[in-house]
Amino acid sequence: MRWSRRSFLSGLGLAPLSAARWPESGARVAETARENIYRELGVRPFINAAGTYTALSASLLSPEVTRAMAEAAKSYVSILELQQACGKRIASLVGAEGAVVTAGCAAALTLATAAVVSGGDEKAISRLPDTGGLRNEVILPKGHRFEYDHALRAVGVRIIEVSSARELRAAIHEKTALLFFLNHRANESPISRKELVSAGKAAGVPTLIDAAADLPPVENLTAFTRMGFDLVAFSGGKGLRGPQCSGLLLGRKDLIDAALLNGSPHPDSVARIAKVGKEEIVGLTKAVELYLAKDHEAEWQEWEERVSHILSRVSGIDGVHAERFVPEIANQVPHAAIGWDSARLRLTRDQFAQELREGEPRIEPRPSPSEEARLEIGVWMMEPGDHVIVAERCAEILKRSPA
Ligand SMILES: *Cc1c(COP(=O)(O)O)cnc(C)c1O
Repeated sequence: MRWSRRSFLSGLGLAPLSAARWPESGARVAETARENIYRELGVRPFINAAGTYTALSASLLSPEVTRAMAEAAKSYVSILELQQACGKRIASLVGAEGAVVTAGCAAALTLATAAVVSGGDEKAISRLPDTGGLRNEVILPKGHRFEYDHALRAVGVRIIEVSSARELRAAIHEKTALLFFLNHRANESPISRKELVSAGKAAGVPTLIDAAADLPPVENLTAFTRMGFDLVAFSGGKGLRGPQCSGLLLGRKDLIDAALLNGSPHPDSVARIAKVGKEEIVGLTKAVELYLAKDHEAEWQEWEERVSHILSRVSGIDGVHAERFVPEIANQVPHAAIGWDSARLRLTRDQFAQELREGEPRIEPRPSPSEEARLEIGVWMMEPGDHVIVAERCAEILKRSPA
């Protein structure tokens, strides 16, 4: 597609930006046709040396998903029919009773909460987030509160924290709507997934797990439903590499049906603001199919090679030590960590990141809250060959920073 830069910008109400914002020559980023749209907008793309961070636009679509979305964009369909057909397809692929494509994992959390609070009752659905007279308490283990619990609170629930399985069982009463578990806290949780699931089953209260960033391993697509969670939420734009504004809610058929009633296309619903379109629904369905069919071992091996290359390129530099690491939970893939002796190199993590960001091509490292003298690099969202560029740039910055 082509349009005049000036008319495009004026159509957006934007002033044309200076043409020479960054060098033209030798720039990998500037060279690729797919980024022309960003250049026209004056937004500078980067090599993703971070990972699947929503604020960094998370992941890139595969050509197959892009094609599926483009095809979806060409015909009119009933959104409900499409949701039901795709939900059925995804559910059968991952061995769940039901599934619904949402506008992100956060939207899946809102839909799940609205489903259990409203129970699918029409009057209750249109009243939310007014939860007077309804079950409106969500119990979660201490340490599982997080930024995204806003997505639960948007439904008008009160959050109760408990410190042990015994406390959890005692806290359940007639107002309890949901037991919630944040998977990336599993390793330091005072209550295990198993304990939470069994407390829910014993009391007849639904359970929900947020596993947004927990693919890979691919087994997780089925593991949590098998473990007994009634509802499981994933991000579609992270490891699944579906559309960035997509997510997946899996689980009990009655709750999935109720979830669907609490969102788009139903106008009078609390999650109507998290609309999901035909392109995303089809795109995520395709992404799930591709994810299940892909050779995960070969992909892992490719990530290992990228990490090894980066480590070998910087390890010989004076005062530098580098290592491979795999986060214990969430984003569980090989990463590179570059550390240095601050007595020997005059460089802070922020300076290092800034230099990568300002250079050509722009590189964005992992936004990890780590020490001053350590920079982490995620390789799994890189495009082929990116790791070589990143390794060179890191080596160059480290080499010219002696104290
Ligand atoms: C990324 C993330 C979310 C939000 O996912 P979106 O798909 O961006 O809505 C929710 N919970 C956790 C744990 C996450 O990492």
